Amino acid sequence: MGSRRMFEIAFVGLKPGVHEFDYELDELFFKEKAGENVDTINANVKLFLDKNNGFMLLKFMVGGNAEVNCDRCGNPLKEDLWDEFSLVVKLTEDPQKANDEEEDADVFYIAKSESHIEVSDWLYEFVLLSIPMQHICGNDEDGKSLCNEEVLQKLDAMRVTNKEQKENSIWKGLDKFKNN
Ligand SMILES: [Zn+2]
Repeated sequence: MGSRRMFEIAFVGLKPGVHEFDYELDELFFKEKAGENVDTINANVKLFLDKNNGFMLLKFMVGGNAEVNCDRCGNPLKEDLWDEFSLVVKLTEDPQKANDEEEDADVFYIAKSESHIEVSDWLYEFVLLSIPMQHICGNDEDGKSLCNEEVLQKLDAMRVTNKEQKENSIWKGLDKFKNN
């Protein structure tokens, strides 16, 4: 697909110093990367590339939002994305060996003969890392939870029924022993 080119930076042609790139990443981008089962994400990433002699500093600033569901009540929520990630890309003779030996996850090696870097995997990874792990409806002005009350009550009722059923089956089991 033609969209690939979009994520390739021809750094060889860049002057030393900082260059800015903007990426709008929509559902299609995440579907191509992850398959069908992805949250709806609309991210924008500003990439600052600082070109130096023999290495580049990459800074990714993630913005936008992700549509998720509340962990408690399942209500749809929109989470803002806001995070920053930095990487060092170094040019070397044997990048495979250097990458295998490098322990710092923020340092990445490419071959000296390379003229492009492909950034779509980093964009994908950093956007996913920007989504908060926990999603909970907030509170209103009075400090009352905005969670769906009806759903919470139903969940509570289900929990009680489950507990009762478990207790009943425990007693049944004990009765068996008593009768022996
Ligand atoms: Zn909720």
